Amino acid sequence: MIINTLQRPLQRLAHSPHSPRGLLRPSLIAKRHIGIPPAYLLDEYIPRYQLLTSVEASRKRSLAYYHLNKCNLCPRRCGVNRFQETGACLIGAETAKVNVIAPHRGEEPCIQGYHGSGSVFFSGCNMRCVFCQNYDIAHQLNGFDLTPEELAEWYIKLQQVGNVHNINLVTPEHVVPQVALSILAARDMGLKIPIVYNTSSYDSLESLELMDGLVDIYLPDFKVWENSTSKRLLKVDDYPETARESIKAMHKQVGDLSFTSDGIAKKGVLLRHLVMPGKEGEAKEIMRWLAENVSKDLYVHIMEQYHPDAHVGKKKKRAVANGSGEVRYAEINRAVRDEELSSVRSAAEAAGLWRFCEVNEHGGFHL
Ligand code: SF4
Repeated sequence: MIINTLQRPLQRLAHSPHSPRGLLRPSLIAKRHIGIPPAYLLDEYIPRYQLLTSVEASRKRSLAYYHLNKCNLCPRRCGVNRFQETGACLIGAETAKVNVIAPHRGEEPCIQGYHGSGSVFFSGCNMRCVFCQNYDIAHQLNGFDLTPEELAEWYIKLQQVGNVHNINLVTPEHVVPQVALSILAARDMGLKIPIVYNTSSYDSLESLELMDGLVDIYLPDFKVWENSTSKRLLKVDDYPETARESIKAMHKQVGDLSFTSDGIAKKGVLLRHLVMPGKEGEAKEIMRWLAENVSKDLYVHIMEQYHPDAHVGKKKKRAVANGSGEVRYAEINRAVRDEELSSVRSAAEAAGLWRFCEVNEHGGFHL
């Protein structure tokens, strides 16, 4: 019965735009070629939340409720009491809204592993990216409301029934207190697998401090470099500066990505950058900054699957009225070209980065 519940959303996710292109083919997983640099090989791994003392866990719970009373949990800093009203994210305090919970095979090989990543897709978002690749989940508040305890029960189902490698919290920035409480509840229920925090990087430092000790793997995006691009395409003014601070804080907590000998990531930062049409100059700046300010050993996924979505390519209002073909955000209304992708990769290598998520020439994956 529970398996069926888990499998239905999985079928949907197999076709999700969130799925990195080409990572769903079982043949590639079967042929995985494991070669982990010794510095990043772990003998065994105990999730960080298991190591918290009961006093530290109580402090985390108090801090979660404290922040909900005057919310500063993302850079929007609405300052609202979420028990009484909602801020820009439109989510209250008692529950988190969840769109899909399922084992997911659309993540990087070291995250999805052999049995899938136990993904929890939260509805809503604290950003308003015009090209959102997950628009139906992130921008529309569809889904069901779950308390932290109910979330924890789902983590246990994913672990026991789905046999997943981790719990992957997707777009959690606006529900960090509920997430923190759910991890602590799941710990008491017997959760034993790592926690993945899958974020846009539009997090506040207070929020990341709350997650310190609860998260094992940070999966941050670094989307754009220029403030003008942030304002036009993400609809926030301060994304680049916030992302820089957040990614440094994440790396300080968990370091570079490490694996157990089965090739499954257990701890560290896996940085994603979705290359956007015409924005390769910004991508190169991001790669240079990461190498110089975070770590040359950072594990990086340069993603190629951008496609026009959400508001991009929709007819402008005046175009509807006058019958012209003008569309919104025309500058990003196309796929990314191969030469754009390869120039970003070359710039990343020139900056000193060397650990990339990619299919290697033997048909397996670099770790
Ligand atoms: S999470 Fe962010 S958007 Fe939501 S209420 Fe708090 S500060 Fe506002």
